[in-house]
Amino acid sequence: MTKDLGFDTLQVHAGTEPDPATGARQVPIYQTTAYVFRDADHAAALFNLQEVGYIYSRLTNPTVGALANRIAALEGGAGAVCTSSGHAAQIMALYPLMGPGLNIIASTRLYGGTYTQFTQVFKRFGWSAKFVDFDDPQAVADAIDDNTRAIFCESIANPAGVPTDIDAIAKVANDAGLPLVVDNTSATPYLCKPIEHGATLVIHSTTKYLTGNGTVTGGAIVDSGTFDWSASGKFPSLSEPEPAYHGINFHEALGGMAYTFYSIAVGLRDLGMTMNPQGAHYTLMGIETLSLRMQKHVENAQKIAEWLEADPRIEAVSYAGLASSPYNERAKRVYPKGAGALFTVTLKGGYDACVGVVNNLELFSHVANLGDTRSLIIHSASTTHRQLSSEQRAAAGAGDNVVRLSIGIEDADDLIADLDQALSKATG
Ligand SMILES: *Cc1c(COP(=O)(O)O)cnc(C)c1O
Repeated sequence: MTKDLGFDTLQVHAGTEPDPATGARQVPIYQTTAYVFRDADHAAALFNLQEVGYIYSRLTNPTVGALANRIAALEGGAGAVCTSSGHAAQIMALYPLMGPGLNIIASTRLYGGTYTQFTQVFKRFGWSAKFVDFDDPQAVADAIDDNTRAIFCESIANPAGVPTDIDAIAKVANDAGLPLVVDNTSATPYLCKPIEHGATLVIHSTTKYLTGNGTVTGGAIVDSGTFDWSASGKFPSLSEPEPAYHGINFHEALGGMAYTFYSIAVGLRDLGMTMNPQGAHYTLMGIETLSLRMQKHVENAQKIAEWLEADPRIEAVSYAGLASSPYNERAKRVYPKGAGALFTVTLKGGYDACVGVVNNLELFSHVANLGDTRSLIIHSASTTHRQLSSEQRAAAGAGDNVVRLSIGIEDADDLIADLDQALSKATG
């Protein structure tokens, strides 16, 4: 067919074909470490990147490769690499770009674990992150210096579900000749394709919506294939002979696939943050229904946010899909299919009411996760943000009186009834 395939078709078919050896219609789990070379010349061609094929599963595996190609197709990228977790994807995404003394500009609104990685782990590599409010693109531009190598944000940002104006940030990145890296975990390519808004790299925690049912951890990095790595001289790993891979110049040799090949040939080879084939299988199963689930997640989130906003026990609801949200116009423009299913709720009863709600909910699970088919809740102040001071928690959008909801795909009326009874018990 010459027609461009739609999202619902791609999520089922992209990256896969009937197994060439057996005709198996579903993607087999290639549970193997190594692959037999046809002969010594074949082996040499594979190691020289002259021929594409399989060497060793730390680098490539057919099951994992099928998932990478499917995610690349859904995001509209040139290539993708899967990783062992979302956090692995973040480090791997930046690895080809960074070095000691270099920095990234990152949004203040991030997943808690990402903030820790950027502040603590980065230091050990000699990297650093400057945190800026991405609602102010000029502040992002002002923070860039000669040592900046990337700009990093989430599409629909944790924990309050704030939709980032990716077009505005991409313009700043483009003007500075820097790649924009967007963590698209909570929007998924169904609600937003950051590459269409100017992003260079898109990363995922496939642990969340892409798998969708809370079974495995995984990550992915998608490259748009359009960034000119050679223009500024700032990305020598990609634009100059790479000593870690017998002096190959990746950009010259591989063009739009330079970043993807580098991430496999050097990133996965040397860092080893590889996704396993069993994990890729679960995510391939999940991704087949991504659009159907996201439609229900978003529909439920909208209903529940509206119900909560009208309830006298509630002080505020952060959902950008609400007409009252300061981000409603932006959400409609950048995320027209919905503002995601992640938001925070501020309770009038404060810390005690939050703990009471969490303890009394029956359908919502109290877990440190998001993007499951099941509805989830977490009171950050008594869990993930426990080590922070009250002021630090408030600044992170995880104040003592705030709970974060990740709305699942159950019946919205059942979820509302559950919230209603838990609120009643918690607030007496
Ligand atoms: C969960 C999450 C991560 C980390 O992913 P893991 O798979 O848990 O390592 C990164 N970013 C966002 C937005 C997340 O929700």
